[in-house]
Amino acid sequence: MKSIIHKLPSSVTNQIAAGEVIQRPSSIIKELLENSIDADSNNIKVIVYEGGKNKIVVIDDGIGMNQEDAVKCFDKHSTSKLKKSSDLFKIKTMGFRGEALSSIASVCQIEMKTKMKDLETGTKVIIEGSKIKDISEVSKRNGTSITIKNIFYNIPARRNFLKSDAVELRHIIDEFQRIALANCDVNFSLFNNDIEIHNLKQSNLSNRIISIFGNNYREQLIQCNEEFDKIELKGFIGKPKNSKKTRGEQFFFVNNRFIKSPYLNHALLKSYEGLLEDKKFPFYVLFIEVDSKSIDINVHPTKNEIKFDDEKLMYNVVKSSINKSLGIHNVTPSINFDADINFTSTRVRQYDEMYQNVSSKKRNNDWQVVFEDAKSENTRIGKQNMINEEDSSDQKSNDPIQLLRPYIFKQLNDKILIFHQSLMHERILYEKYKANFKNKKSNSQQSLFPKYIELNKTDFQLMSELINEIKLLGFDIDIFGTNSVVINGIPSGSEDINEKHLIESFIEELKLNNESFSDDKNEKIIRSFAKRCRIREEKKLEIDEMKSLIDQLFSCKIFNYTPDGEKIFIQINKNQINKFFDV
Ligand code: ADP
Ligand code: MG
Repeated sequence: MKSIIHKLPSSVTNQIAAGEVIQRPSSIIKELLENSIDADSNNIKVIVYEGGKNKIVVIDDGIGMNQEDAVKCFDKHSTSKLKKSSDLFKIKTMGFRGEALSSIASVCQIEMKTKMKDLETGTKVIIEGSKIKDISEVSKRNGTSITIKNIFYNIPARRNFLKSDAVELRHIIDEFQRIALANCDVNFSLFNNDIEIHNLKQSNLSNRIISIFGNNYREQLIQCNEEFDKIELKGFIGKPKNSKKTRGEQFFFVNNRFIKSPYLNHALLKSYEGLLEDKKFPFYVLFIEVDSKSIDINVHPTKNEIKFDDEKLMYNVVKSSINKSLGIHNVTPSINFDADINFTSTRVRQYDEMYQNVSSKKRNNDWQVVFEDAKSENTRIGKQNMINEEDSSDQKSNDPIQLLRPYIFKQLNDKILIFHQSLMHERILYEKYKANFKNKKSNSQQSLFPKYIELNKTDFQLMSELINEIKLLGFDIDIFGTNSVVINGIPSGSEDINEKHLIESFIEELKLNNESFSDDKNEKIIRSFAKRCRIREEKKLEIDEMKSLIDQLFSCKIFNYTPDGEKIFIQINKNQINKFFDV
């Protein structure tokens, strides 16, 4: 029998590889932009027509190629970035697999012009379906420009698979933004059908974020800057209340490469737990720097996925860093948009260490010290700068006061903190119920008179399904007879409530949200009860009650926002008041 196995021609293997690397016009943009970045460009211009389906042009002012390389670069597995296999573990460039240009060339028509700085003339190469059609000398500015036409012209099935111009353009913008965020020192522009979509000037990260996403992001960013042993995490996260209904604006970069990591995203969301409204997604642009030996980026041809040697460690790094940034963003100064490179990380860390060192009991009494310490700007603050007993004698006599109910005013040094009493109580209850739930221990306070609440059949049915969860919050509640429940006790700290009203309104909400209640039932029950059991806005409070509320608030894991992301307190300092008087 004749042998039937033969080697595939390179035009076919290239097309197979292209299947993995090049899925749509945006994949081409990504590969070309990465090449321009690797070529040390300062200016990169991207022009597309019809969502990139008919024409893509990328122009850079990078190092360019000589004539020999201008042809070689289209060969499969040809790269200038990697020599031996050990290089795979210290990759500093975006590309390394040497398969992008050969893949693109197998499914498109390409015209490339390139010139190196030291050469007189440049080279033009025309290649179509992996076949070189023409090589010639041209005059050209330094750098490389690549024009790609008719993507998938030779694979109709894939061409038909492409979506509308608008959808393809959306993908292009996404890739463009990822690269632009990771390379703030480069000027980028993007045009579609001759209309300018982006024109980004070299800047720092915060300004780049604003130029990409809009001026209103100026108010929304919280800085993150953490250094651990061999891991660094920096960038910006969005304030919880500015979260969006869509997941789009979330970016993790590892060693400056955009990656998709549901695992790290989960770590981040854990830190936002209790701060976000339902089905909302926080904004983030975070850069993780790790030793390149401790990761593997060669997991997928698109280089969008990554493997960490120690995944758990990365998870914890993200979670604890974000926790910290969220916990202090209300008490740190607003961001200086022109100087975000030297984040003052010492301040952040001192605060955190102190926070961890003081047990929560001690923290109750010392919250002013901790709070003050975290507030101090610029100055290096050590223990000697904390408010000591003598300095704070004035402080001690300065009791909180209820004015313009629901507000509680409290002076702290040269500033006034203004708390919303109901919202602060909601946060306190939320954390208390949550802890009860977690520890499965309920410390309810027995009522003198049990309250019987009669319900109709459907409501009773609903109630009985959730009765165990409600018990776990600390409610001593039971089924009574065929259609009522009896409440013998309520969680300590929530004494203000009308039980009947509580249960009725809870059932009302259950009915309204019946569907959504199933996905995170416990969290919703906790939130709903915390909202219902919080003190009323008009309730008059004794001084001791106010003090206790403030202390309890600052013992909370998160003290500046309610579980739904509402602000709990604001602060005004003397300078701000002076301004009202023009002094
Ligand atoms: P990789 O980027 O993985 O090396 P590519 O197929 O994307 O593989 O590119 C092949 C080679 O072509 C690169 O290694 C680089 O030497 C050269 N090259 C590609 N694009 C450019 C560019 N814009 N400027 C200079 N050289 C380039
Ligand atoms: Mg490349």
